[in-house]
Amino acid sequence: AILGFAALMSGVFGFLSARGLVRPASRLDEMDEALAKGHIQPHFQPLFSLEDNHVTGFEMLARWIKPDGTSISPAVFIPLAEDEHRIDPLIFSLLIQAGEQIGNLLRADAALKMSFNITPAQLLSDGFVERLTKQIDAAGLPRHSLVLEITERQPIADVEKALMVSGRLAELGLRIAIDDAGTGHNGLSSLHALQANYLKIDKYFIDGVTLNRKSFVLVEALVSLGEQFGMTVIAEGIESEDQLVKLRELGIREGQGFVFSRPLPANQLVKLIEEKKRQPMRAA
Ligand code: C2E
Ligand code: MG
Ligand code: MG
Ligand code: MG
Repeated sequence: AILGFAALMSGVFGFLSARGLVRPASRLDEMDEALAKGHIQPHFQPLFSLEDNHVTGFEMLARWIKPDGTSISPAVFIPLAEDEHRIDPLIFSLLIQAGEQIGNLLRADAALKMSFNITPAQLLSDGFVERLTKQIDAAGLPRHSLVLEITERQPIADVEKALMVSGRLAELGLRIAIDDAGTGHNGLSSLHALQANYLKIDKYFIDGVTLNRKSFVLVEALVSLGEQFGMTVIAEGIESEDQLVKLRELGIREGQGFVFSRPLPANQLVKLIEEKKRQPMRAA
C-alpha cells in the first residue's frame, strides 16, 4: 500500500511539474542564493601589449563557483540572468567585489584599464547610466580606469538612444569597447550606434588568421575600420605564437588569450602584474 501511495504521489508530482505548476529548487532560486552568498565572483583575464608584452589591463568575467568547488560557465547563467532581470544585480555585485579585490591596483596605476561586459539591452534600459555610476562610486573604482564592453552578438534596438547613452558615458569618464567585433547580425551597425574607444575582434577571426586568407583579410579590414574610427584594436582569444606573429604584422597593438593567460582570480592577477613589473620587458 505504501509503494502504491508513493507511486501515486510521484505520478501527481510528475503531472504538475510537467505543467510547470511546481518547480523544485529551480535554477533561478539557485542563482538568487548564489548572488546573495557571493558565489558569483569576478575573475580577471589580463590584456597585453603586443609590442612589448606588458599588461595594459584586464577583463572582468563572471564565475559561478558552486559550494562543491565546481563552476558553471557564464555562457549558461548570463542568458538566465538576462531573462530573469538579474543582469544588473549580477554586474553590480561583481563591481563591488572587484573594488575590494583590485581597486588598489587600478588606483596605483592610471594606465591600467578594467573592462566588464554589459548587454546592449542593459545599456539601453532606463536609468542605467545613473545606476551604474552610483555602483562604480560605491565600489571605489576609478571611472577613468573602466571600459564597458558591449557585444555585437545582440542587436542594438535603438541606435539614437545608444549614441546618446555612449556620449553620456564618455562625459562621465567611462570608455566603451565593441566586443565580439565581426559577429554582428546587423553588419557594422554597432560602429554607428556606439561612440567607442576599443574594437575587440572576435576569437572566431583570430582562430582563422593563420589558417585561411579570408580571415586574414577580414581582420585586416576590421583593423583599418577601427583605426579610421579612432579606436584601439584588440584581438581576443589568441592561443598561439603563430597567431601573435600575424596579428603584429597586421598592426594590432593589444590582445588577450590563453597564449598569455587564462582568466585568473584577483590574487593571481596581482601576482602576475607584480612579476611582469620585475622582469625587464621582452621586445616583441
Ligand atoms: P567575452 O566577453 O567575449 O569574453 C571572452 C571569453 O573568451 C571568456 O569566456 C574567456 O575566458 C574566453 N577566452 C579568452 N581567451 C581565450 C582563448 O585564448 N581561448 C578560448 N578558447 N577562450 C578564451 P567566459 O569567461 O566563459 O565568458 C563567456 C562570455 O560570457 C563572455 O564573452 C561574455 O559575453 C559573457 N560574460 C562573462 N561575464 C559576464 C558578465 O559579467 N556580464 C555579462 N553581461 N556577460 C558576461
Ligand atoms: Mg567581453
Ligand atoms: Mg568577446
Ligand atoms: Mg568572444
